[in-house]
Amino acid sequence: MTTTPTRTTADWQALDAAHFLHPFTDFQALAKKGSRIIERGENVYLWDSDGHRLFDAMSGLWCVNVGYGQQALIDAATAQMAKLPFYNSFFQTTTPPAVELAELLAEVTPPQFRHVFFAGSGSEGNDTVVRMVRRYWDLKGQPERQVILSRWNGYHGSTMAGASLGGMKYMHAQGGLPIPGIDHIDQPHWLEHGAGMTRDEFGLKAAGWLEQKILEVGPDKVAAFIGEPVQGAGGVIVPPATYWPEIQRICDKYDILLVSDEVICGFGRTGNWFGCETMGTKPDLMTFAKGVTSGYVPLGGVMVGERVAKVLIEQGGEFEHGYTYSGHPVACAVALANIRLIQELKLVERVRDETGPRLAAVFESLRDHPLVGETQSCGLMAALQLVRAKDGTQDGRGTPFDPALEVGMVCRSHCFGNGLIMRAVGDRMIIAPPLVMTVEQVDELAGLIRLCLDLTLADLQARGWV
Ligand SMILES: *Cc1c(COP(=O)(O)O)cnc(C)c1O
Repeated sequence: MTTTPTRTTADWQALDAAHFLHPFTDFQALAKKGSRIIERGENVYLWDSDGHRLFDAMSGLWCVNVGYGQQALIDAATAQMAKLPFYNSFFQTTTPPAVELAELLAEVTPPQFRHVFFAGSGSEGNDTVVRMVRRYWDLKGQPERQVILSRWNGYHGSTMAGASLGGMKYMHAQGGLPIPGIDHIDQPHWLEHGAGMTRDEFGLKAAGWLEQKILEVGPDKVAAFIGEPVQGAGGVIVPPATYWPEIQRICDKYDILLVSDEVICGFGRTGNWFGCETMGTKPDLMTFAKGVTSGYVPLGGVMVGERVAKVLIEQGGEFEHGYTYSGHPVACAVALANIRLIQELKLVERVRDETGPRLAAVFESLRDHPLVGETQSCGLMAALQLVRAKDGTQDGRGTPFDPALEVGMVCRSHCFGNGLIMRAVGDRMIIAPPLVMTVEQVDELAGLIRLCLDLTLADLQARGWV
């Protein structure tokens, strides 16, 4: 133990409020309430400092895909720390784990990928994407191709470039974002934009917004389009099946690089190794992070397709970019152990054939609950929309609650209070549980979700909100 074992929950909360500025947090509001202190994890479960067990249906933050306590990852980190805790990959050197991980990534990613650029996080990966696609077009003799297009309500991280690529307006409002040369189109969110259309009709329409934007900016000025196969932080928004193939067609038509941000969807989350395989695209670049190490240590990067890699390697000279921790040997050793474990346990196949279909059935069946409107799932990520009433509304869209009531937060606290971690994005409740979960645990999760929905309904009835 490196922490003080005798501290109580109240001690931790007081110290936390005194010294720790949390990410994406209203500091004052949290200090009043006190943080939840998570102390221990095993498989899909966490325990807080009061000994309460929680079913972690968010895999930490979309990352602990192999679950907590996997000895193979612990051993890999320990052995690599003892042998060589750090050496860099600048100055024409590298380390065996970084090389072996590069080889294994080339093997598990789609065939156009044979090279990787390592970073420390998803945000750094996306900063790399911005530098790399602009460099590519410079080398191609088209330096005016600078603009990168992305979607409103997409999430691509929190660095200057990552937050700019992302379409979170509340993030842009702080710190003078977006940086120049980044432009956004609307998201393929049928519930928000697709009234009166089937999902498939809407998918084509939403993809058409990309073509409109390209024509507006000028096709000779657009460098790349970036998107998450399924938007994660935006609320598990699964696009219609028609969307991504049409996006691919448009990118091909205008010779624009397609970047798949696989930070959440990569490494099995959608029931294939990568989300682009589920959605039917052939991206030129792929950002990864989170699931590459199952979050045990930080690591991110960019898979660089041969179209771009060839130009960077053969014509590029020095690429003036990199991080101290690009190819960190401990992180790479853990990633190797993690990916081998995913292969050994056949987690991708299990998500595709067993747990994913079971979770889809669970979310379909939740539609009979009075509070649940639209539900969606893809592999082991799913969302349900809390609605005030459903009568007479199209396709179970339902009548929304007044956003000011923050009904999602009400539901979330019933979840926390009853041993379930489920996240609220507005009134959309989302999950992305660990890929190691069994079919029995999907059913356990289903029971917990239904219990928490019932408690939320009773609470809202008592407040007179339904
Ligand atoms: C989390 C996330 C990022 C940012 O990754 P960090 O490691 O937090 O920098 C980027 N893209 C997507 C899709 C993400 O979910």
